Amino acid sequence: MALIVDDKHLGTPEARWRDAGLHEELLHLGPINARRLLVVSPHPDDEVFGAGGLIQAALSQRVPVEVIAVTDGEASHPNSSAAATLNLARVRNDESCEALGRLGWRSPLITRLHLADGAVTENRNELDAALASILLPDDLCVAPWRYDGHPDHDTCGESALAASRAVGARTLGFLVWAWHWADPEGSNIPWDVCRRLDLSRRARARKRWASAAFNSQTRSLGPAIEDAVLPAPLMRRFWRPYEVFVDETVSTP
Ligand SMILES: [Zn+2]
Repeated sequence: MALIVDDKHLGTPEARWRDAGLHEELLHLGPINARRLLVVSPHPDDEVFGAGGLIQAALSQRVPVEVIAVTDGEASHPNSSAAATLNLARVRNDESCEALGRLGWRSPLITRLHLADGAVTENRNELDAALASILLPDDLCVAPWRYDGHPDHDTCGESALAASRAVGARTLGFLVWAWHWADPEGSNIPWDVCRRLDLSRRARARKRWASAAFNSQTRSLGPAIEDAVLPAPLMRRFWRPYEVFVDETVSTP
């Protein structure tokens, strides 16, 4: 499945997700019963788009949080020679720190693996080893759902699930690209094992403010550089009053 995202390919309209009533139908996630929340983020922004509400919940429950930044996101503008002159890795990592600060996390703990953006699958062994060395049995690990639809995301989801199962930790899968390609009425997403986390007005506002920190993804980088990677209408998916997580501990392998 090719993931095409531009102004002409805006994916499943947000109105269809809203009409699907996920907010009412899915069971609540409940409190975070873990000694630590580990957020596996393939690219600098996924941690906020996919789990910005959950991070805030952990902070409010005084659960320590750590982000595992798998890549630096340096390949977000592959066809732009002008973008290549920028240090996109540094720009995107700075945006992530700013965004996490906007969530109320003043000194975010981020472990950077520096795997090549777009080549996580090719470097799966390195990712597996890193996660195996970090994960502990009482952690709650949240990573992209393993069928999210972007190769880097899917590999992160697979690796996190394997590492979690090896130590007996709980894993949740967050959705980023599945909102783009999936059908609310379809069976691609296992809704029966999905859980929702409701965001307070304050938490929702913070997440929206945090998502606006990723200027390199949501705006044109300059006149000679291609348009935003994430067209504005797509961002609505990440401003909802709830987040959805696939509970991999009850999902069949
Ligand atoms: Zn990503």
